[in-house]
Amino acid sequence: KALRKAVIAGNWKMNNTRVETKALIEDLIPLAKDAGCDVVVCVPFTNLETAVNLTKGTNIKVGAQNCHFEAKGAFTGEISASMLTEMGVEYVVIGHSERRQYFGETDATVNKRLKAVIDAGMTAILCVGEMLEDRENGITEELVAMQTKIALGGVSKEDLSKVIIAYEPVWAIGTGKTATADQANEVCALIRATVEKLYDKEASDALTIQYGGSMNAGNAAELLSKPDVDGGLIGGASLKAPDFATIINAAS
Ligand code: PEP
Repeated sequence: KALRKAVIAGNWKMNNTRVETKALIEDLIPLAKDAGCDVVVCVPFTNLETAVNLTKGTNIKVGAQNCHFEAKGAFTGEISASMLTEMGVEYVVIGHSERRQYFGETDATVNKRLKAVIDAGMTAILCVGEMLEDRENGITEELVAMQTKIALGGVSKEDLSKVIIAYEPVWAIGTGKTATADQANEVCALIRATVEKLYDKEASDALTIQYGGSMNAGNAAELLSKPDVDGGLIGGASLKAPDFATIINAAS
């Protein structure tokens, strides 16, 4: 764990206008400046330029929440990887459960998007995780291993350094219901073992694996203390600068 980079990333989802973005980032900059972990804010496309400009010269990095896999063309409403890099974006969330649930994202399209992000030189935050039904049916391990394997198809060991995996049990996202620290660690460890089988121990030891799902200022320290939990992907609690800062401090 000591070898790995702790990364705390905020997923703002479809929240904050440009004016609100400016206020939140200005509040966050002084609170995050001494962070002992990497700090990322994943903002709506329309706020990327504002966020990149405001965070120049700070330790806060900017991410997008999705990215199309094709370079250009007749894909109305989509945004390409080069459009993001041109803007100074360094991270992209890929395969978030809301994209899978509401926008028809599949393991196959997640794999294509992931590769487009890596090829453009950005870091992908790849989200995997089971639904409540999957957990109740006892297939969490198989399902998360399969999501991981398909998403990483065709990704070289070298390119794996441009991937962070976020374990996000769908039943814990936005529900206030957090996985216990042991549950979170168990699946993060399973993901690491899956990656070791696909690549090798060196690759899996170096991989940052986050937990996400109702992580907040009160529960972050315990979740982040676990050996295979290297950071967090935070939705709701990333919208309040003091709460997000508390989580950053817990990871530092
Ligand atoms: C997320 O959107 O990835 C997430 C974990 O949301 P929340 O923290 O609100 O559960």
